[in-house]
Amino acid sequence: MLPYGRQSIAEEDINAVVEVLRGDWLTTGPAVEALETEISRITGGSRAVTATSGTAALHMAYAAAGIGRGDEVVSTPMTFIATASTASMLGATVRFADVEEDTGLIDPASVAAHVNERTKVIAAVDYAGHPADYDALQPIAEAVGALTLDDAAHSIGGTYRGKPVGDLADITTFSFFPTKNLTTGEGGALVAKRPDLAQRAHEFHYIGLVRDPERFKVVSEGPWHQEVHEFGLNYRLSDVACALGLSQLRRLESFKQRRAEITARYNSALSDVEGLRVPVQKDHVDPAWHLYPLRVLHGRRQEVFEKMRAAGIGVQVNYMPVYWHPVYAEMGYKRGMCPNAEAFYAQELSLPIFPGLTDSQVDQVIDALLTAVR
Ligand SMILES: *Cc1c(COP(=O)(O)O)cnc(C)c1O
Repeated sequence: MLPYGRQSIAEEDINAVVEVLRGDWLTTGPAVEALETEISRITGGSRAVTATSGTAALHMAYAAAGIGRGDEVVSTPMTFIATASTASMLGATVRFADVEEDTGLIDPASVAAHVNERTKVIAAVDYAGHPADYDALQPIAEAVGALTLDDAAHSIGGTYRGKPVGDLADITTFSFFPTKNLTTGEGGALVAKRPDLAQRAHEFHYIGLVRDPERFKVVSEGPWHQEVHEFGLNYRLSDVACALGLSQLRRLESFKQRRAEITARYNSALSDVEGLRVPVQKDHVDPAWHLYPLRVLHGRRQEVFEKMRAAGIGVQVNYMPVYWHPVYAEMGYKRGMCPNAEAFYAQELSLPIFPGLTDSQVDQVIDALLTAVR
């Protein structure tokens, strides 16, 4: 089965990992710092903190924003559940704004209708690698004193009006899962524009330990002393994983380029096919295409999905609206709430896209698809 996404591991990645294994630091060493420095450099210069997953990075982001019971987060249903569930786990109420009919990205007009004085975070997702509309979202957040969060699990390396992903929202999170734009096996990171938020995220991912003597509340212990002011977790990414990430990051531009070529090849073969709709790209963005979210019209998505799988093409569907998950449905979230997201989900079919996919494999996917929709 041709997968819909997969990692691209080169000899240099393997050597980078082996070098760490031969060294002194398996975790919390120089590779962690080096990866954080490099992520910061390519995402606009704000401090980066690595994490054990994209989910952990989202949990850290919400913890850094200080959200809890009584607070609200406005987010999109067209995402992996972690964008919302990590806020729910901290006790916040998630309000789902609908998405734009064409892009599947959170619709600023719907966000504006959902914010109020309890809103603490507006969490957008750069679905498929296409940045959301941050110039529209930021003023909506500022008007109610909320922060913006960019779940950029799909979009590291992309740009919006010439600015890199990571420099668009107050806090940005990344995932380094194998199918994503670069991998550390499991892993993730966040960047925060405000240094206090980055520091709070760092402490949360480090069990809550405070190590700055100027902030100590317990005084006159000794040079060994560290203390906890707020509970945290251990979400530290190892040096082994960070060495892989650092090596992968050197090829991020070429990964992005290959993903763009594959997108263009699909677009040119499929844009005039009756019953299909190819993904749209707004003029002001340069996406880092993580998914190729095709739309299959006339109620034929499931049929086409099954025919593609039968033909050995590992298509995928991204995503069932988050509030359809029983954990949210049982809290009272009703189907029908976000009609654009539900319509998008009903048609969406993700075609294989990853750097190692060859032109002839892309053509094989196209042929199988044309046969399936004929
Ligand atoms: C993959 C993903 C996550 C979670 O990342 P993990 O590293 O798998 O925990 C969060 N949000 C989105 C949109 C994702 O695609």
